[in-house]
Amino acid sequence: MKTAISKQLLVSIMAMLVLLVLAGCSSATESSETEKDKEETKRPILIQGPMPIEAEKFAERLENVEIEESGSTYEFYIGTVDDYPVIVSKTGKGMENTAAATAIAIEKYNPAAIINQGTSGGHDPALNVFDIVIGERTVNIGSMKTGDRAEGEGIEATEWKPMDVMASEGSAGEDPNAEKARYYDADPELLAAAIHVKDSYTQGKVVEGTIGSADVWNNEVDRINWFHENFETSVEEMESASSAMISKAYDVPFLAIRILSNNKTNDGAYNPDTAAANQEYVYEVVKEYIAALESK
Ligand code: SAH
Repeated sequence: MKTAISKQLLVSIMAMLVLLVLAGCSSATESSETEKDKEETKRPILIQGPMPIEAEKFAERLENVEIEESGSTYEFYIGTVDDYPVIVSKTGKGMENTAAATAIAIEKYNPAAIINQGTSGGHDPALNVFDIVIGERTVNIGSMKTGDRAEGEGIEATEWKPMDVMASEGSAGEDPNAEKARYYDADPELLAAAIHVKDSYTQGKVVEGTIGSADVWNNEVDRINWFHENFETSVEEMESASSAMISKAYDVPFLAIRILSNNKTNDGAYNPDTAAANQEYVYEVVKEYIAALESK
């Protein structure tokens, strides 16, 4: 009788042990699977650069790179930084290319954040070639409504007003509410990461400012000054406000970071080496942002 009970006890203890071991195993595989799922579902950070010199330096820094193309213009270098997925997108120059490349990237790769970076022309005489502007905000400076002038009354560019094509779904030409510039604010966490690593950049100053974009290269200093006064622009280029607009349409955090490659207001001659310097800085920003994401 005594032995029968202890045998029964032994059997049930053994059964419990088996169950415990099985439960342990399954929870171990479950947790390693969720870790793996997390790795695989990490949304990439997208780094945009318009020209080859503005994208390829960063792309060289990626690990495990694969290249994908869309159409004949848009190239995506898909890789990792510090084991985190990062995609470098060569958008091509200008507003349309950038809008298309941004929408394609969002639809295809579902990025967690977008940084548009590259060269620019100074509007602020206090900024020199090799200085960097972190875009607290971006604005389309080609979106304009002209004054009302009849035939023979001429062209008066300083009368032109900013025009907000997103003010309503109605006609911006008729809508007085559309007569203002639309500024796209930077994402606060991307901005904080960029500010945090300012000191890593030693080839010039790093400041926060306003980045103006249009498919125009302004070489008239009076016109540059007019933008600087009326739109508070620090620099001009041809892409950031376009990417900001599309990022906002999809609610993707956005930041623009632009280095001065030229500045007409203080005779700063164009220097293409600035493109590589900016990518070095943006690489530091991306590492900082990844660290912030990973510590959440
Ligand atoms: N194809 C034209 C210039 C285009 S280069 C030519 O050869 O004259 C313009 C590129 O450089 C754009 O990607 C733009 O973002 C950047 N850029 C640098 N400085 C600029 C400036 N002062 N005005 C406008 N874009 C500038």
